Amino acid sequence: MNAEVLLDDAGREVLLTGNEAVARGALEAGVNYAASYPGSPTAEILEALAQAQKLYPDRLYTEWSVNEKVAMEGAAAASFAGLRSLTIMKCDGLNVAFDFLTSLGLSGTRGGMVIAVGDDPSAHSSAKEEDSRYLGRLAHLAIWEPADSQQAKEMVKAAFDLSEQMGQPVMLRLTTRVCHAATNATLGPLPKGPAPQAIIAPTDKFITWIEGHKAQEERLLGAVQVANRSNFNRYLGPDQPEILVVACGPSFHYAHEAVEELRAKAEDWGLGSLNGIGILQLATAWPLPEELLLGYLKSARQVIVLEEIEPFVEDYLLGLVARNSSTLGQTVVYGKHSGHVASSNGIGLGELNPELVYRAIAKAIAPGALAPVASTATPSSKPSEAGEQPSFPGRDLAFCAGCPHRASFWALRSALELDGRRGIILGDIGCYSLAKGRTGFNAFQTMHAMGSGAGIASGLGQLWRFGFSQPVVAVVGDSTFYHAVVPALINGRYTQSNFLCIILDNQTTAMTGHQPHPGTGGGAAGDPLPPVPMEQIISGLGLPFTILDPFDIPKATAGIYAALQQPGVQILILRQTCALIATKREIRPEVYVDPDLCRGYNCSCFNFCSRVFACPGNIWDDQRGVASIDQSVCNRCGVCISLCPAGAIKTRTEEDVSHEQLAS
Ligand code: SF4
Ligand code: SF4
Repeated sequence: MNAEVLLDDAGREVLLTGNEAVARGALEAGVNYAASYPGSPTAEILEALAQAQKLYPDRLYTEWSVNEKVAMEGAAAASFAGLRSLTIMKCDGLNVAFDFLTSLGLSGTRGGMVIAVGDDPSAHSSAKEEDSRYLGRLAHLAIWEPADSQQAKEMVKAAFDLSEQMGQPVMLRLTTRVCHAATNATLGPLPKGPAPQAIIAPTDKFITWIEGHKAQEERLLGAVQVANRSNFNRYLGPDQPEILVVACGPSFHYAHEAVEELRAKAEDWGLGSLNGIGILQLATAWPLPEELLLGYLKSARQVIVLEEIEPFVEDYLLGLVARNSSTLGQTVVYGKHSGHVASSNGIGLGELNPELVYRAIAKAIAPGALAPVASTATPSSKPSEAGEQPSFPGRDLAFCAGCPHRASFWALRSALELDGRRGIILGDIGCYSLAKGRTGFNAFQTMHAMGSGAGIASGLGQLWRFGFSQPVVAVVGDSTFYHAVVPALINGRYTQSNFLCIILDNQTTAMTGHQPHPGTGGGAAGDPLPPVPMEQIISGLGLPFTILDPFDIPKATAGIYAALQQPGVQILILRQTCALIATKREIRPEVYVDPDLCRGYNCSCFNFCSRVFACPGNIWDDQRGVASIDQSVCNRCGVCISLCPAGAIKTRTEEDVSHEQLAS
């Protein structure tokens, strides 16, 4: 984390990522309670606030909650007691919290409550891309979307104020590029002194009731007025634009660049000066500032809508234009529906970038001026007319060198092969999700949401009555176990289902940056919280379990095979520390390939270790025709030693080293 996030130095300009800016804005707004479940692209917000808790323990409490619903419930509790609270989650997490959120909107809140949701257009670090604005709209929330760090910081502060004014949470929609890109932001003052007294008076009621629905609608009308006057809706261009670009989030900056570039070329293309183009950053995504928009739509006959993932604003804008057609005249709206805004994944999907935005605007105002593009999949730093793309070497998605998951999936595949009944593997969400691909030997046959693998297993485990005879294996992570797997296990035990649940316990929430969870103990700010061991929970459920080391592949394979032969719900914990943590903790002996023993091209499966097992540390020496170990990558887990059929992979002992020194 950038330490400048915490500086008590108002007026200083610093470089902050969007995530750091959200954390800073919350601190400047006097946030007292922040809770989250780690998820990319927003995991760093709570990490920054947890550092702040160490400095201001009487003003701020932070928590990595067991899941997003519990995080939101905790933040709501603080709000009910009059405190300011922030809850942070990725788009998938909003689904988990959504049941509570729809009720919370009806009961209302008291202290300012902000819900920061990270959408991941193009799913850079997610199983899917999801546009959280629809859920925010469904929950009747005001939704704001910043374009850069300065705006993110200021927007959080204003969102707390709006939440208190409306008496309900305000949602901040963040996208990956804004979360992770660093831009300048000016620090504001931090509040002094302890948090206000938390209190819920006997007359305070926060109860979900149907009458609250009308109140929600009335609150949103207030938010419309705020949106119409909001300075976050920035406008660049003439008072009466002929062409209006409506840009959401980072698209505002891309549009600015694109219009400048197009103006430079306009004369050559015979397009005049292009001075009639106006760019409106629509920061208040919901409710729409209709009055503001209609002001520009009076003169603009062409409108281009730029937004990431779905045509959320575009659809509402089309409705606005249609409802006002008698006064506006003919207005053409370009966007995802018209095919002008197309991303690498197709129309209506994916992340935008400067080149895609440039092409969208150019296509709308100067069709035919651009050469066709072969592909728009890779963002380039400079928009190109010819569609030339810089080429980068491809990189496979792979488990880290020495990752225990690779060993676990190898053992699992081996056990299922031994079993021979075409067992199926149900995946889940975490870094082990990569097992859907080559690095995990294409293990998964299903993969959906956190905890769903075990839920699906519970269902499949009932299908014996319909002739289903394949073994069923759900693979879950340790953090996922606490997040959402326990109810599925209760269901399996209760209904006497038949499946094996393998918990890949790497003793951290690895995918999002090694956050703690109930099984590891320790709080967000490093507070010494005792762990809640998964063994105790499993025992409490009355389920049998075994703990094995996935690095001991023969034993792990035998253990999985044995569990597959048992009826009922079986639990196997494959426990081995995440490779990235283990490397820091232990000094292990060097692993190397003895070239005299390596079978090279004659090896089973043809250079088995580097091609099939494919740990990034196992490499192929083409010149010598033998395998080798990349010492800069290998983390010396030793797993490949037990897999080499020729015994060619060895650990270099101190004795070996001294022999080698003598020989040289
Ligand atoms: S010992 Fe083998 S499996 Fe382990 S990290 Fe090194 S190369 Fe990879
Ligand atoms: S598995 Fe062993 S014998 Fe086969 S290529 Fe690798 S080091 Fe050589």
